[in-house]
Amino acid sequence: MADSIKQTYIRMVFPAWKWNMWPKQPIRDQRAAQGLCRQCGKVKPSPGFTWCETCRSKNIRTKVWRQANREAAIKHYGGICNCCGKTDTRFLTIDHIDGGGRKHRKELGNPGGNHFFSILKKQGYPEGYQVLCWDCNCAKHMYGECPHQTDKK
Ligand SMILES: [Zn+2]
Ligand SMILES: [Zn+2]
Ligand SMILES: [Zn+2]
Repeated sequence: MADSIKQTYIRMVFPAWKWNMWPKQPIRDQRAAQGLCRQCGKVKPSPGFTWCETCRSKNIRTKVWRQANREAAIKHYGGICNCCGKTDTRFLTIDHIDGGGRKHRKELGNPGGNHFFSILKKQGYPEGYQVLCWDCNCAKHMYGECPHQTDKK
């Protein structure tokens, strides 16, 4: 990504007020200034990166692990959108059937994201959840029911 595009993108995603709230990372900046890995500060980063090989592979492993948790949960709950039948796991997510998703996620200790999937796994995939694609999930929360279902009536 060209630097100017990147800057514009960052400004879009993190407007000034958010940017000011962003935790400052003087230690990491110091590490980078010394030409060391921003993450561990022990070794030189890989060429073209700010993190060293070890930190990068650790980060990738975490991502893969999170991805695996997500896919395992989706597979467990059927692996297919309960509304429109979409099967591409990249577009699927878990929905709390009675609509208390947000509240329940809060109770689980995280308002959203990957932690949720690992907790589902720990709890042995409790009942009351279903697989929905992002479209149907968003539509359900917006209209109280996915238009796919309304159309069927
Ligand atoms: Zn490192
Ligand atoms: Zn769907
Ligand atoms: Zn739908």
